Amino acid sequence: MSSPGREVVGVDTRQKIEVLGRSAQYDLCGQACGTEASRVRDDLDRWIYPALLPDGKRINLLKILLTNACENDCHYCANRASRNFRRISFTPEELAYTFDQMHRKGLVRGLFLSSGVCNAARTMDRMIATVELVRRRYAFPGYVHLKILPGATFAHVERAVQLANRVSVNLEAPNPERLARIAPPKDFTAHLLQPLRWASRLIAEGQGQRASVSQTTQFVVGAAGETDRELLSTTARLYREVALARVYFSAFQPIVDTPLEDHPPTLPLREHRLYQSDFILRRYGFTFEDLVFDDSGNLPSEADPKLTWAQAHPECFPVEVNRASREELLRIPGIGPTSASRILKLRRQGRFCQLSDLRKVGAVAKRAAPFILLNGKQPPFQLSLW
Ligand code: SF4
Repeated sequence: MSSPGREVVGVDTRQKIEVLGRSAQYDLCGQACGTEASRVRDDLDRWIYPALLPDGKRINLLKILLTNACENDCHYCANRASRNFRRISFTPEELAYTFDQMHRKGLVRGLFLSSGVCNAARTMDRMIATVELVRRRYAFPGYVHLKILPGATFAHVERAVQLANRVSVNLEAPNPERLARIAPPKDFTAHLLQPLRWASRLIAEGQGQRASVSQTTQFVVGAAGETDRELLSTTARLYREVALARVYFSAFQPIVDTPLEDHPPTLPLREHRLYQSDFILRRYGFTFEDLVFDDSGNLPSEADPKLTWAQAHPECFPVEVNRASREELLRIPGIGPTSASRILKLRRQGRFCQLSDLRKVGAVAKRAAPFILLNGKQPPFQLSLW
């Protein structure tokens, strides 16, 4: 076994893809782009992930680290400095060439590049050099998601925004106190929030050379003892202040030989409720103040956050579907943006009188029934939390 932090030499490219692709699985980069379970393994044992892009297209990404060596010791992380395992790195030339070969063979159509940190400035230089080669030497015009490492300089962020379609900084925890529990070397404001602010400003100023550069972040959920209220308060603030395209929530899973190896894993349902809350913040006009938390500051697990809000606000219901505004329709459980638009369009031609009329526009009529009037009448329903 190699010593911690010592790089193994003489590792061939195929082995590097195997090891550094496996190490990259903890970074989320889009819907359906997640952990080992979602990967597609081709006949060359390469690490390829299907990912849904911001424009809705689904493509295969090479999701990879430049190196799994890291000088930091984040308590939850498989790549932390104190773990004793094999450390390897790509050179920028080697990784750019490998990506080009995979792209030419039609195996991947995009790149997601992250890395362990071996001197933040030097590692960012190498990551940017990799993407510059991909863009210039290999003339790749497609999708690149580039991770911005903690401690990156303004110049790194500026170049990243010019080169990539998407950039991201992993906040990992919702505030400085929580981050200090799980990643003591990282400064929440200086190392993480500041690069997000720089990227936000640069994107707003149109510094990106691609039409739609966007940025995201990721939290590891349940490692720092944080509540859902803390996570979603920061999430809502980030959407307001740094124009994030998405926030990703990654349920904590303990990793052997880390300080959190005996910490219980976070239930997938918690992650699911956070995503549901995030969705109604982004797409349904809900604010953080609308979200309902239990006494411990967490989202109730028994019902989704929109239903929980509706049950907590009986004064807002029932809503007459034939008269409600779009905003009022979006507050009704079972009615989403698409079905709300269809209701607004179709009710010009006739009244909604039956639950079957709602089903035809794609609403979940059974869920909406306790909260609506159809042509002045409450439809029959059975109470259900789901
Ligand atoms: S800086 Fe990143 S790679 Fe390094 S230990 Fe922390 S989370 Fe892991």
